Amino acid sequence: MPGSVEAGPAVEGRPPEVPVEINAKWCKGCDICVAFCPKEVLVRPEGEKAQVAHPEKCTRCGLCEIMCPDLAIVVIPARKGARAQAQGGAGDA
Ligand code: SF4
Ligand code: SF4
Repeated sequence: MPGSVEAGPAVEGRPPEVPVEINAKWCKGCDICVAFCPKEVLVRPEGEKAQVAHPEKCTRCGLCEIMCPDLAIVVIPARKGARAQAQGGAGDA
């Protein structure tokens, strides 16, 4: 039987842009990051850890990273081209 490892969708050979990374081992599900995110990027389903639900809305303001008492969430710097596009430029592609 062939392997069943699922690969994510290929996006021109580059992984999708992820604005914040949540360490599920450290997250205790306190909801602080969800409450403070001004863009409603984060959610925490009942009984689960925090999750990134709307990455496209993230402005990388850093509030979630600052407010998390368990240091479980980190803002990932935008790639150069992605940042230029987010700012309305044409990017460097
Ligand atoms: S603030 Fe930190 S510990 Fe609390 S839900 Fe968010 S990531 Fe998890
Ligand atoms: S960096 Fe700001 S906008 Fe992005 S998830 Fe964290 S609090 Fe929300």
